[in-house]
Amino acid sequence: MRTQVAIIGAGPAGLLLGQLLHSSGIANVILEQRSGEYVLSRIRAGLIEAGTVDILDRAGVGMRLHREGLVHDGIEISFGSHRHRIDFRKLTGKSVTIYGQTEITRDLMEARAAAGAPTVYEVEGVSLQEIAGDRPRVLYRKDGVTAEIGCDFIAGCDGFHGVSRQTIPEASLRIYERVYPFGWLGILSETPPVSPELIYVSHERGFALCSMRSLSRSRLYLQCGLDDNIENWPDERFWKELKLRLDPEAAAGIVTGPSIEKSIAPLRSFVAEPMRFGRLFLAGDAAHIVPPTGAKGLNLAASDVYYLWQALAQFCETGSTAGLDGYSDRALARVWQAERFSWWMTSLLHLFPERSPFEQRLQRAELDFLARSTAAQIALAENYVGLPY
Ligand SMILES: Cc1cc2nc3c(=O)[nH]c(=O)nc-3n(C[C@H](O)[C@H](O)[C@H](O)COP(=O)(O)OP(=O)(O)OC[C@H]3O[C@@H](n4cnc5c(N)ncnc54)[C@H](O)[C@@H]3O)c2cc1C
Repeated sequence: MRTQVAIIGAGPAGLLLGQLLHSSGIANVILEQRSGEYVLSRIRAGLIEAGTVDILDRAGVGMRLHREGLVHDGIEISFGSHRHRIDFRKLTGKSVTIYGQTEITRDLMEARAAAGAPTVYEVEGVSLQEIAGDRPRVLYRKDGVTAEIGCDFIAGCDGFHGVSRQTIPEASLRIYERVYPFGWLGILSETPPVSPELIYVSHERGFALCSMRSLSRSRLYLQCGLDDNIENWPDERFWKELKLRLDPEAAAGIVTGPSIEKSIAPLRSFVAEPMRFGRLFLAGDAAHIVPPTGAKGLNLAASDVYYLWQALAQFCETGSTAGLDGYSDRALARVWQAERFSWWMTSLLHLFPERSPFEQRLQRAELDFLARSTAAQIALAENYVGLPY
Protein backbone atom coordinates (compact mmCIF):
# COMPACT_ATOMS: atom_id res chain seq x y z
CA MET A 1 0.00 0.00 0.00
CA ARG A 2 1.15 3.58 -0.66
CA THR A 3 -0.25 6.78 0.76
CA GLN A 4 0.85 10.36 1.35
CA VAL A 5 0.52 10.39 5.15
CA ALA A 6 0.50 7.28 7.37
CA ILE A 7 -1.18 8.14 10.68
CA ILE A 8 -0.43 5.98 13.72
CA GLY A 9 -3.33 5.97 16.21
CA ALA A 10 -7.08 6.56 15.87
CA GLY A 11 -7.54 8.70 18.97
CA PRO A 12 -8.82 12.25 18.59
CA ALA A 13 -5.47 13.48 17.17
CA GLY A 14 -5.19 10.79 14.47
CA LEU A 15 -8.85 10.90 13.44
CA LEU A 16 -8.97 14.70 13.31
CA LEU A 17 -5.76 14.90 11.27
CA GLY A 18 -7.12 12.26 8.90
CA GLN A 19 -10.31 14.24 8.38
CA LEU A 20 -8.54 17.57 7.80
CA LEU A 21 -6.07 15.98 5.36
CA HIS A 22 -8.94 14.34 3.52
CA SER A 23 -10.66 17.73 3.21
CA SER A 24 -7.47 19.03 1.52
CA GLY A 25 -7.33 16.07 -0.86
CA ILE A 26 -4.31 14.51 0.89
CA ALA A 27 -4.43 10.69 0.97
CA ASN A 28 -3.91 9.09 4.38
CA VAL A 29 -4.22 5.75 6.12
CA ILE A 30 -4.79 5.35 9.87
CA LEU A 31 -3.40 2.34 11.75
CA GLU A 32 -4.89 1.63 15.19
CA GLN A 33 -3.91 -1.17 17.56
CA ARG A 34 -7.34 -1.39 19.26
CA SER A 35 -10.81 -2.07 17.87
CA GLY A 36 -13.08 0.86 16.96
CA GLU A 37 -15.47 -0.13 19.80
CA TYR A 38 -12.63 -0.09 22.33
CA VAL A 39 -11.48 3.38 21.22
CA LEU A 40 -15.08 4.62 21.50
CA SER A 41 -15.49 3.25 25.01
CA ARG A 42 -12.56 5.20 26.51
CA ILE A 43 -14.02 7.83 28.85
CA ARG A 44 -11.61 10.75 28.90
CA ALA A 45 -11.82 14.48 28.18
CA GLY A 46 -15.02 16.48 27.94
CA LEU A 47 -14.27 20.20 27.86
CA ILE A 48 -13.71 21.79 24.48
CA GLU A 49 -12.13 25.21 23.86
CA ALA A 50 -13.70 27.56 21.32
CA GLY A 51 -10.63 27.11 19.07
CA THR A 52 -11.11 23.33 19.09
CA VAL A 53 -14.77 23.81 18.15
CA ASP A 54 -13.60 25.92 15.17
CA ILE A 55 -11.23 23.15 14.03
CA LEU A 56 -13.93 20.51 14.35
CA ASP A 57 -16.18 22.75 12.25
CA ARG A 58 -13.45 23.06 9.62
CA ALA A 59 -13.16 19.27 9.60
CA GLY A 60 -16.93 19.15 8.93
CA VAL A 61 -17.78 17.31 12.15
CA GLY A 62 -19.18 20.09 14.36
CA MET A 63 -22.92 19.67 13.69
CA ARG A 64 -23.81 17.36 16.58
CA LEU A 65 -21.47 19.23 18.92
CA HIS A 66 -23.38 22.46 18.24
CA ARG A 67 -26.69 20.64 18.73
CA GLU A 68 -25.89 18.64 21.86
CA GLY A 69 -22.88 20.35 23.47
CA LEU A 70 -23.44 22.46 26.58
CA VAL A 71 -22.00 25.97 26.31
CA HIS A 72 -20.51 27.13 29.62
CA ASP A 73 -19.74 30.79 30.30
CA GLY A 74 -17.80 30.19 33.52
CA ILE A 75 -16.62 27.87 36.29
CA GLU A 76 -16.79 28.01 40.05
CA ILE A 77 -13.82 27.70 42.40
CA SER A 78 -14.74 26.47 45.87
CA PHE A 79 -12.61 26.91 48.99
CA GLY A 80 -13.27 27.80 52.62
CA SER A 81 -16.89 26.59 52.19
CA HIS A 82 -17.67 29.26 49.58
CA ARG A 83 -17.89 29.20 45.80
CA HIS A 84 -16.44 31.98 43.63
CA ARG A 85 -17.50 32.26 40.00
CA ILE A 86 -15.03 33.01 37.21
CA ASP A 87 -17.13 34.57 34.46
CA PHE A 88 -15.38 33.70 31.18
CA ARG A 89 -17.81 35.56 28.98
CA LYS A 90 -17.52 38.80 30.93
CA LEU A 91 -13.73 38.52 31.31
CA THR A 92 -12.75 37.26 27.84
CA GLY A 93 -15.89 37.31 25.66
CA LYS A 94 -15.46 33.54 25.16
CA SER A 95 -17.05 30.30 26.39
CA VAL A 96 -16.17 26.60 26.49
CA THR A 97 -18.29 23.63 25.40
CA ILE A 98 -19.00 20.41 27.28
CA TYR A 99 -18.95 17.56 24.75
CA GLY A 100 -17.35 14.20 25.50
CA GLN A 101 -14.21 12.90 23.81
CA THR A 102 -16.22 9.75 23.09
CA GLU A 103 -18.71 11.83 21.08
CA ILE A 104 -15.97 13.68 19.15
CA THR A 105 -14.37 10.32 18.37
CA ARG A 106 -17.71 8.92 17.18
CA ASP A 107 -18.36 11.96 14.94
CA LEU A 108 -14.88 11.69 13.42
CA MET A 109 -15.15 7.94 12.87
CA GLU A 110 -18.51 8.33 11.14
CA ALA A 111 -17.22 11.15 8.91
CA ARG A 112 -14.18 9.05 7.99
CA ALA A 113 -16.33 6.04 7.13
CA ALA A 114 -18.62 8.28 5.02
CA ALA A 115 -15.58 9.66 3.17
CA GLY A 116 -14.35 6.12 2.49
CA ALA A 117 -10.92 6.90 3.98
CA PRO A 118 -9.07 3.79 5.18
CA THR A 119 -8.56 2.93 8.86
CA VAL A 120 -7.02 -0.40 9.78
CA TYR A 121 -8.06 -1.41 13.32
CA GLU A 122 -6.53 -4.09 15.51
CA VAL A 123 -3.08 -3.95 13.96
CA GLU A 124 -0.11 -5.43 15.81
CA GLY A 125 3.63 -4.88 15.80
CA VAL A 126 3.61 -1.43 14.19
CA SER A 127 7.17 -0.36 13.36
CA LEU A 128 8.33 2.82 11.68
CA GLN A 129 11.15 2.43 9.17
CA GLU A 130 13.57 4.89 7.52
CA ILE A 131 11.98 7.91 9.18
CA ALA A 132 15.15 9.96 8.63
CA GLY A 133 14.92 9.56 4.83
CA ASP A 134 12.48 10.76 2.15
CA ARG A 135 10.67 7.41 1.81
CA PRO A 136 9.55 6.25 5.24
CA ARG A 137 7.62 3.01 5.62
CA VAL A 138 5.35 1.52 8.24
CA LEU A 139 5.27 -2.22 8.89
CA TYR A 140 2.44 -3.90 10.79
CA ARG A 141 0.61 -7.19 11.20
CA LYS A 142 -3.09 -7.65 10.64
CA ASP A 143 -4.71 -11.05 11.24
CA GLY A 144 -1.23 -12.55 11.46
CA VAL A 145 -0.19 -11.22 8.01
CA THR A 146 2.62 -8.65 7.73
CA ALA A 147 1.83 -5.59 5.62
CA GLU A 148 3.74 -2.46 4.62
CA ILE A 149 2.72 1.11 3.86
CA GLY A 150 5.07 3.35 1.90
CA CYS A 151 4.42 7.06 2.49
CA ASP A 152 5.79 10.59 2.29
CA PHE A 153 5.22 11.39 5.97
CA ILE A 154 4.29 9.65 9.20
CA ALA A 155 2.10 11.34 11.83
CA GLY A 156 2.72 9.82 15.29
CA CYS A 157 -0.70 10.28 16.94
CA ASP A 158 -0.44 7.16 19.10
CA GLY A 159 -0.59 8.63 22.57
CA PHE A 160 1.82 8.55 25.49
CA HIS A 161 2.57 4.80 25.29
CA GLY A 162 2.73 4.63 21.49
CA VAL A 163 5.56 3.44 19.29
CA SER A 164 6.20 6.73 17.43
CA ARG A 165 8.05 8.71 20.09
CA GLN A 166 9.96 5.55 21.08
CA THR A 167 11.22 5.21 17.49
CA ILE A 168 13.07 8.52 17.68
CA PRO A 169 16.71 8.00 18.80
CA GLU A 170 17.00 8.89 22.49
CA ALA A 171 19.83 11.33 21.84
CA SER A 172 17.57 13.35 19.53
CA LEU A 173 14.85 13.96 22.11
CA ARG A 174 14.82 16.12 25.21
CA ILE A 175 12.32 15.04 27.86
CA TYR A 176 10.82 17.35 30.50
CA GLU A 177 8.69 15.68 33.16
CA ARG A 178 6.98 16.12 36.51
CA VAL A 179 5.01 13.35 38.21
CA TYR A 180 2.59 14.58 40.90
CA PRO A 181 2.30 12.81 44.25
CA PHE A 182 -1.43 12.01 43.83
CA GLY A 183 -4.00 10.80 41.31
CA TRP A 184 -7.61 11.44 40.35
CA LEU A 185 -10.31 8.93 41.17
CA GLY A 186 -13.07 9.54 38.62
CA ILE A 187 -16.60 8.22 38.26
CA LEU A 188 -19.23 8.64 35.60
CA SER A 189 -22.84 8.40 36.76
CA GLU A 190 -26.30 8.83 35.26
CA THR A 191 -27.15 11.64 37.64
CA PRO A 192 -27.78 15.35 36.97
CA PRO A 193 -24.77 17.66 37.40
CA VAL A 194 -24.15 18.98 40.91
CA SER A 195 -24.38 22.55 39.56
CA PRO A 196 -25.00 24.11 36.10
CA GLU A 197 -21.26 24.85 35.77
CA LEU A 198 -18.09 22.94 36.77
CA ILE A 199 -17.02 23.28 40.40
CA TYR A 200 -13.30 23.04 41.18
CA VAL A 201 -12.80 22.37 44.88
CA SER A 202 -9.70 23.07 46.98
CA HIS A 203 -10.26 21.44 50.37
CA GLU A 204 -8.17 20.29 53.32
CA ARG A 205 -9.28 16.69 52.53
CA GLY A 206 -8.05 17.10 48.94
CA PHE A 207 -9.13 18.41 45.55
CA ALA A 208 -12.48 17.56 43.95
CA LEU A 209 -14.05 18.39 40.60
CA CYS A 210 -17.74 18.26 39.73
CA SER A 211 -17.94 18.07 35.96
CA MET A 212 -20.48 16.64 33.55
CA ARG A 213 -20.97 15.14 30.12
CA SER A 214 -24.63 16.14 29.68
CA LEU A 215 -27.61 17.39 31.70
CA SER A 216 -28.21 13.85 32.91
CA ARG A 217 -24.65 12.52 33.21
CA SER A 218 -22.08 13.62 35.79
CA ARG A 219 -18.31 13.19 35.71
CA LEU A 220 -16.87 13.57 39.21
CA TYR A 221 -13.31 13.39 40.51
CA LEU A 222 -11.59 13.16 43.88
CA GLN A 223 -7.89 13.61 44.57
CA CYS A 224 -6.60 10.27 45.86
CA GLY A 225 -3.29 8.62 46.75
CA LEU A 226 -1.05 7.19 44.02
CA ASP A 227 -1.25 3.76 45.64
CA ASP A 228 -5.05 3.90 46.01
CA ASN A 229 -7.23 1.29 44.34
CA ILE A 230 -10.80 1.49 42.97
CA GLU A 231 -11.72 -1.55 45.11
CA ASN A 232 -11.25 0.76 48.11
CA TRP A 233 -13.87 3.10 46.70
CA PRO A 234 -17.38 1.64 46.61
CA ASP A 235 -19.88 4.23 45.30
CA GLU A 236 -21.21 5.09 48.78
CA ARG A 237 -17.74 6.01 49.95
CA PHE A 238 -17.14 8.14 46.86
CA TRP A 239 -20.35 10.17 47.30
CA LYS A 240 -19.76 10.59 51.04
CA GLU A 241 -16.23 11.90 50.47
CA LEU A 242 -17.37 14.23 47.69
CA LYS A 243 -20.00 15.75 49.97
CA LEU A 244 -17.36 16.34 52.65
CA ARG A 245 -15.23 18.33 50.20
CA LEU A 246 -18.08 20.47 48.80
CA ASP A 247 -19.62 23.62 50.26
CA PRO A 248 -22.83 22.93 52.26
CA GLU A 249 -25.22 24.13 49.52
CA ALA A 250 -23.65 22.03 46.76
CA ALA A 251 -23.38 19.00 49.10
CA ALA A 252 -27.06 19.27 50.00
CA GLY A 253 -28.10 19.40 46.33
CA ILE A 254 -26.18 16.31 45.15
CA VAL A 255 -28.18 13.54 43.51
CA THR A 256 -26.32 10.27 44.01
CA GLY A 257 -26.55 7.10 41.92
CA PRO A 258 -24.51 4.10 40.82
CA SER A 259 -21.29 4.74 38.92
CA ILE A 260 -21.15 3.41 35.36
CA GLU A 261 -17.38 3.88 35.11
CA LYS A 262 -14.72 4.24 37.77
CA SER A 263 -10.98 4.68 37.31
CA ILE A 264 -7.86 6.16 38.85
CA ALA A 265 -5.47 8.23 36.73
CA PRO A 266 -2.04 9.46 37.85
CA LEU A 267 -1.22 13.12 37.17
CA ARG A 268 1.78 13.97 35.06
CA SER A 269 3.34 16.86 33.14
CA PHE A 270 5.51 15.70 30.22
CA VAL A 271 6.98 17.24 27.08
CA ALA A 272 9.23 15.63 24.45
CA GLU A 273 11.13 18.08 22.25
CA PRO A 274 11.31 18.46 19.30
CA MET A 275 8.03 17.11 17.93
CA ARG A 276 9.69 16.07 14.68
CA PHE A 277 12.38 13.67 13.59
CA GLY A 278 12.98 13.51 9.83
CA ARG A 279 9.68 12.60 8.22
CA LEU A 280 8.00 11.64 11.51
CA PHE A 281 5.84 14.29 13.21
CA LEU A 282 4.42 13.79 16.72
CA ALA A 283 1.02 15.22 17.70
CA GLY A 284 -1.09 15.08 20.86
CA ASP A 285 -0.30 12.83 23.83
CA ALA A 286 2.51 11.18 21.85
CA ALA A 287 4.54 14.35 22.50
CA HIS A 288 3.11 15.80 25.70
CA ILE A 289 0.90 15.15 28.71
CA VAL A 290 -0.74 17.66 31.04
CA PRO A 291 -2.47 17.00 34.36
CA PRO A 292 -6.22 17.19 33.58
CA THR A 293 -6.87 20.11 35.98
CA GLY A 294 -6.70 22.67 33.16
CA ALA A 295 -8.74 20.49 30.72
CA LYS A 296 -6.06 20.94 28.06
CA GLY A 297 -5.07 17.43 26.84
CA LEU A 298 -7.59 17.01 24.06
CA ASN A 299 -7.46 20.70 23.14
CA LEU A 300 -3.68 20.56 22.73
CA ALA A 301 -4.00 17.49 20.53
CA ALA A 302 -6.35 19.55 18.33
CA SER A 303 -4.00 22.54 18.08
CA ASP A 304 -1.01 20.30 17.17
CA VAL A 305 -3.12 18.68 14.48
CA TYR A 306 -4.21 22.05 13.14
CA TYR A 307 -0.57 23.20 12.74
CA LEU A 308 0.47 19.87 11.22
CA TRP A 309 -2.43 19.89 8.76
CA GLN A 310 -1.51 23.42 7.62
CA ALA A 311 2.15 22.43 7.20
CA LEU A 312 1.36 19.24 5.23
CA ALA A 313 -1.19 21.05 3.06
CA GLN A 314 1.35 23.78 2.29
CA PHE A 315 3.93 21.17 1.28
CA CYS A 316 1.49 19.23 -0.89
CA GLU A 317 0.21 22.38 -2.62
CA THR A 318 3.46 24.32 -3.09
CA GLY A 319 6.36 22.01 -2.27
CA SER A 320 7.45 24.44 0.47
CA THR A 321 8.85 22.84 3.63
CA ALA A 322 8.57 26.08 5.65
CA GLY A 323 5.50 24.93 7.58
CA LEU A 324 6.96 21.48 8.25
CA ASP A 325 10.26 22.98 9.39
CA GLY A 326 8.44 25.35 11.75
CA TYR A 327 5.88 22.81 13.04
CA SER A 328 7.67 21.73 16.20
CA ASP A 329 8.49 25.26 17.40
CA ARG A 330 5.00 26.52 16.60
CA ALA A 331 3.25 23.65 18.37
CA LEU A 332 5.60 23.69 21.37
CA ALA A 333 5.05 27.42 21.96
CA ARG A 334 1.37 26.66 22.61
CA VAL A 335 2.11 23.38 24.41
CA TRP A 336 4.30 25.13 26.99
CA GLN A 337 1.61 27.74 27.70
CA ALA A 338 -0.83 24.91 28.41
CA GLU A 339 1.80 23.04 30.47
CA ARG A 340 2.33 26.14 32.61
CA PHE A 341 -1.39 26.72 33.10
CA SER A 342 -2.15 23.07 33.89
CA TRP A 343 0.71 22.94 36.41
CA TRP A 344 -0.49 26.21 37.98
CA MET A 345 -4.13 25.04 38.30
CA THR A 346 -2.90 21.77 39.79
CA SER A 347 -0.61 23.55 42.28
CA LEU A 348 -3.33 26.03 43.25
CA LEU A 349 -6.09 23.52 43.93
CA HIS A 350 -4.56 20.27 45.23
CA LEU A 351 -3.37 19.16 48.62
CA PHE A 352 0.37 18.50 48.37
CA PRO A 353 1.50 16.14 51.14
CA GLU A 354 4.99 17.64 51.24
CA ARG A 355 3.90 21.29 51.56
CA SER A 356 4.95 23.09 54.76
CA PRO A 357 2.41 25.09 56.81
CA PHE A 358 3.99 28.23 55.29
CA GLU A 359 3.38 26.97 51.75
CA GLN A 360 -0.19 25.99 52.65
CA ARG A 361 -0.86 29.56 53.81
CA LEU A 362 0.60 30.88 50.55
CA GLN A 363 -1.76 28.59 48.63
CA ARG A 364 -4.74 29.97 50.56
CA ALA A 365 -3.52 33.54 50.01
CA GLU A 366 -3.41 32.91 46.26
CA LEU A 367 -6.97 31.53 46.29
CA ASP A 368 -8.15 34.60 48.25
CA PHE A 369 -6.42 36.85 45.72
CA LEU A 370 -8.08 35.00 42.82
CA ALA A 371 -11.49 35.42 44.44
CA ARG A 372 -10.94 39.17 44.83
CA SER A 373 -8.85 40.28 41.88
CA THR A 374 -10.31 40.81 38.41
CA ALA A 375 -6.77 40.77 36.98
CA ALA A 376 -6.12 37.30 38.47
CA GLN A 377 -9.49 36.06 37.19
CA ILE A 378 -8.73 37.33 33.68
CA ALA A 379 -5.40 35.46 33.70
CA LEU A 380 -7.19 32.23 34.63
CA ALA A 381 -10.08 32.77 32.21
CA GLU A 382 -7.85 33.63 29.24
CA ASN A 383 -5.91 30.39 29.64
CA TYR A 384 -8.93 28.24 30.47
CA VAL A 385 -10.96 29.22 27.37
CA GLY A 386 -7.82 28.59 25.29
CA LEU A 387 -5.03 30.83 24.02
CA PRO A 388 -5.21 31.91 20.37
CA TYR A 389 -3.60 29.76 17.66
C1 LIG B 1 -7.86 8.41 32.04
C2 LIG B 1 -7.70 9.71 31.28
C3 LIG B 1 -8.54 10.79 31.56
C4 LIG B 1 -8.42 12.00 30.88
N1 LIG B 1 -9.24 13.06 31.18
C5 LIG B 1 -9.09 14.23 30.51
C6 LIG B 1 -9.89 15.34 30.79
O1 LIG B 1 -10.77 15.30 31.65
N2 LIG B 1 -9.69 16.49 30.07
C7 LIG B 1 -8.72 16.58 29.08
O2 LIG B 1 -8.56 17.61 28.41
N3 LIG B 1 -7.94 15.53 28.81
C8 LIG B 1 -8.10 14.38 29.49
N4 LIG B 1 -7.32 13.34 29.20
C9 LIG B 1 -6.36 13.53 28.14
C10 LIG B 1 -7.00 13.37 26.77
O3 LIG B 1 -7.91 12.32 26.79
C11 LIG B 1 -5.87 13.15 25.79
O4 LIG B 1 -5.07 14.32 25.82
C12 LIG B 1 -6.34 12.83 24.38
O5 LIG B 1 -6.94 11.57 24.33
C13 LIG B 1 -5.14 12.88 23.42
O6 LIG B 1 -5.51 12.36 22.19
P1 LIG B 1 -4.45 11.60 21.29
O7 LIG B 1 -5.19 11.24 20.05
O8 LIG B 1 -3.21 12.39 21.21
O9 LIG B 1 -4.05 10.29 22.11
P2 LIG B 1 -4.93 9.02 22.52
O10 LIG B 1 -6.33 9.42 22.80
O11 LIG B 1 -4.17 8.31 23.57
O12 LIG B 1 -4.96 8.13 21.20
C14 LIG B 1 -3.84 7.40 20.77
C15 LIG B 1 -4.32 6.20 19.96
O13 LIG B 1 -3.19 5.51 19.46
C16 LIG B 1 -3.39 4.11 19.62
N5 LIG B 1 -2.07 3.46 19.67
C17 LIG B 1 -1.18 3.47 20.69
N6 LIG B 1 -0.08 2.77 20.36
C18 LIG B 1 -0.29 2.32 19.09
C19 LIG B 1 0.50 1.55 18.20
N7 LIG B 1 1.71 1.09 18.56
N8 LIG B 1 0.00 1.26 16.99
C20 LIG B 1 -1.23 1.73 16.62
N9 LIG B 1 -2.02 2.47 17.42
C21 LIG B 1 -1.55 2.77 18.65
C22 LIG B 1 -4.17 4.01 20.92
O14 LIG B 1 -4.89 2.78 21.03
C23 LIG B 1 -5.11 5.21 20.82
O15 LIG B 1 -6.31 4.89 20.17
C24 LIG B 1 -7.42 12.14 29.87
C25 LIG B 1 -6.59 11.04 29.58
C26 LIG B 1 -6.70 9.85 30.29
C27 LIG B 1 -5.77 8.69 29.97
